[in-house]
Amino acid sequence: MRLGFRALAAMGIPEQLAQVQEKVRGAVAARAAAVTTPEAPVRLVAVSKTKPVEDLKAAYDAGHRHFGENYVQELVEKSPQMPADVQWHFIGHLQSNKVGMLVKGCPGLTCLETIDSEKLARTVDKAWKAAYPERPLGVMVQVNSSGEETKNGVEPSEVADLCKVIATECEGLRLVGLMTIGAPDYSGCRTEDFETLKRCRAEAAAAIGVETDALELSMGMSADYENAIREGSTSVRVGSSIFGARHYPAKS
Ligand SMILES: *Cc1c(COP(=O)(O)O)cnc(C)c1O
Repeated sequence: MRLGFRALAAMGIPEQLAQVQEKVRGAVAARAAAVTTPEAPVRLVAVSKTKPVEDLKAAYDAGHRHFGENYVQELVEKSPQMPADVQWHFIGHLQSNKVGMLVKGCPGLTCLETIDSEKLARTVDKAWKAAYPERPLGVMVQVNSSGEETKNGVEPSEVADLCKVIATECEGLRLVGLMTIGAPDYSGCRTEDFETLKRCRAEAAAAIGVETDALELSMGMSADYENAIREGSTSVRVGSSIFGARHYPAKS
C-alpha cells in the first residue's frame, strides 16, 4: 500500500507516541526491578514546540494529556485551540516581561519547569495569585547541571536557597521539583548531570524539610529518556521521537 506524505504523518504520531510510552514502561520496570523500592510512575511530557496543532490533536486523540512548549507566543496561540483538559508544561527560558502573557494566555498551565531566579519566582507568584487565587501553579527550578556559562538555570550551589524561597514565601506556587537539560545540544544528560541533579534535590529537600521523594526530577529527552528513567527521573520531556524532527523556519 502506498501512503502519501500527509497520511504517513497523520498515522505516525499515535504510533510513535505508543512506542515512546512502551519504552517508558520498559525503563520504569527495569528500574523497579533494580532498586526494589516502590517506584513512582513516570510522566511523559510530549514536547510539541514548532509542531502544528493538528499534530498535538493526534497525540491528544491517542489519549495523551501532558504537552510541553518552549515559547510563550506559540503556547498562547496553541492552548485555546486544544481541549481544556490538556496539562501544559512550560519548558523554555522565561523572561519576566512575558510572565503576564503566559499566565493570562494559558489557564491550563500545570507546571512551569524553568524557574531560574528568585526574581522570576516572585514575578510568577504574584501574577498567578492575582489570576488564579484558588490553585497554586506547579513549578520546577531549572538547574545548570553542566556548568556551561551559556546555559540557563541556577548554579547547583544556589538551588536549595531558591527552593526554600518558593516553598516558604510564594503562596501562589507549589514546588514540584528540579529540571535539567544536560548538554546544550539536546544530546542528553551525562552521568554528572544526573548526579548533580540528585545531589541538588537532596539539598533542597533538607532545606525545606521534606522527604527527597517529595521532589520530582525532570530529566531526559529523546536522546536519553530511558537512561534518565533508570537514573531516577520522574518526568521525561520527549519531542522528536513522538512528533518527528523539528524544522525551524530559516531566519531572514
Ligand atoms: C525541545 C526540548 C525537549 C525535547 O527535545 P527532543 O530531543 O526533541 O526530545 C526537551 N526539553 C527541553 C527543555 C526542550 O527545549
